[in-house]
Amino acid sequence: MNNRTKHIIVIGGGITGLSAAYTLLHTKKKESIKVTIIEREHRLGGKINTANVTGNVIERGPDSFLAHKDAMIHLCEKLGLADRFAGTGPTANKAFLVSNQALTPFPRDTFMGIPYHKEAIEATNVLSEQGKSRALEDFFTPNEAPEGDESLGHFLSRRLGTEMMERLAEPILAGIYAGHAAQLSLLATYPEFRDLERKYGSFLQGLQTLMTSSKRTAKTSIDADLSSNARSTSVFLTIQNGLQTIVKALAEAIGKDNIHLGTRVRQIVTPEDTELSATRIHPYTIYLSDNSSVEADAILLATPAFAAAQILQDHDLQMELAGIPYTSVATVTLLFSSDQLDVKQYEGSGFIVPSTEPYTITACTFVSAKWPQNIHHGTVVLRCFIGRAGQDKIVLANDDEIIARVREDLKSLLHIEAKPGRVLIKRWPHAMPQYQVGHLDRVARIRQLLALRFPGIFVAGAGYEGVGLPDCINQGEQAATQILDYLQAQSPHYALVTKRSKG
Ligand code: FAD
Repeated sequence: MNNRTKHIIVIGGGITGLSAAYTLLHTKKKESIKVTIIEREHRLGGKINTANVTGNVIERGPDSFLAHKDAMIHLCEKLGLADRFAGTGPTANKAFLVSNQALTPFPRDTFMGIPYHKEAIEATNVLSEQGKSRALEDFFTPNEAPEGDESLGHFLSRRLGTEMMERLAEPILAGIYAGHAAQLSLLATYPEFRDLERKYGSFLQGLQTLMTSSKRTAKTSIDADLSSNARSTSVFLTIQNGLQTIVKALAEAIGKDNIHLGTRVRQIVTPEDTELSATRIHPYTIYLSDNSSVEADAILLATPAFAAAQILQDHDLQMELAGIPYTSVATVTLLFSSDQLDVKQYEGSGFIVPSTEPYTITACTFVSAKWPQNIHHGTVVLRCFIGRAGQDKIVLANDDEIIARVREDLKSLLHIEAKPGRVLIKRWPHAMPQYQVGHLDRVARIRQLLALRFPGIFVAGAGYEGVGLPDCINQGEQAATQILDYLQAQSPHYALVTKRSKG
């Protein structure tokens, strides 16, 4: 390759693709590069989708990010949004769980639903006496971790018993993936649990130690950093006016000339090696839905894995990529006026529904309490989730059926009879990747196959190494670095230096 400008194509304009493109354009580099994002939809953001409904900020996809994961914080700082972080409202520090068809507060001192103190386990009314004794056995059970991967459900029932697993731990831990603990990979979802077991023997003892030390660190950082109040006190953060603000800022920083919306990538074609070196300047040709094509030196597939499978012309890669299953979910947001509902009744961040309970709703956020700055005084907003692995047909039901089922659940659980003034349904077909047992090995095989058969093509995003927004940003940034390293390694100057240094 010569010293001409290298063209990098980022396929997919969700948070992964956007943060990759932003990093590519804003990293100091030796290569001259051009970056183009190609996005199928007529909008950027992918799963990030903020609506404004009569002045209320309604998130139809993600509503927040974990404050302790730095990637989003750093990105927002670079985008000039550091003064726009917003934490959860003052009453949102408690959450509820459905147990025996009624709402009950989560036990105190929990980590992701797991009470880690003997007293907290003994005090909860969610577990039977037998269930409590079984969970407490963990304190006296040594490390029994198997060598390879195991399911999250296997780990939790092995350590804490089936009751604790089903009633308290699974709803949050697997709920994040809209999945089932019995199918999710421990090593791909919560590898730190395995580390705690290895280090402390007792998983609960490990959690307790971890939580005590992190509370101490949090207290020190709160004292040191009183100015950024929202950042230091809230577990979850958002940005004023909603997460779409971040997408807008990224789009502006990337530049509209570098973004093609409403264009689906159909396939990537690679010429034979001989043809590539002899006659072609760019190694890859990308065919688009408008029948045009574009040439690229490097490509990032920041789409869901099943979409990458359709784009890449390779049987083995297609099998591996399509082997990552996705679950469909939907958010159903109901707006009431405070004449209809008493705002005070909906204090707390919301509730979670274990899969053992007979409801359509899998979780519900009390938006007006969790994000009071987003909602007009006098409006009560509840956001319900439906759909989980194996039970996602409901997402494809018609609006009337979805609304009827959600209202039936709210009547049973919250005694709400009132008809909401407005309902927003947002379906997300095949949205939540399921990291099944062996997922990490599968991702490693995908990367190996890519390096071998399609050098210069990379994958990143929710389907691979973390579904949370900060995880996706991390992956986008790492992919950008890999692309720049790859291009540099292709440059004649680099080849010369390497040859010389090898002697
Ligand atoms: P996506 O956002 O899916 O972006 C991929 C993009 O690729 C899409 O825009 C798509 O149109 C495009 N594309 C696909 N095929 C093609 C093609 N052939 N050609 C061109 N473009 C293509 N995470 C959190 O951290 N906090 C939360 O509160 C949270 N809540 C969530 C709630 C819901 C309802 C959902 C669905 C997810 C939630 N998540 C949350 C997870 C998080 O939102 C996602 O994992 C993340 O946004 C995925 O980003 P991504 O860029 O990897 O993929």
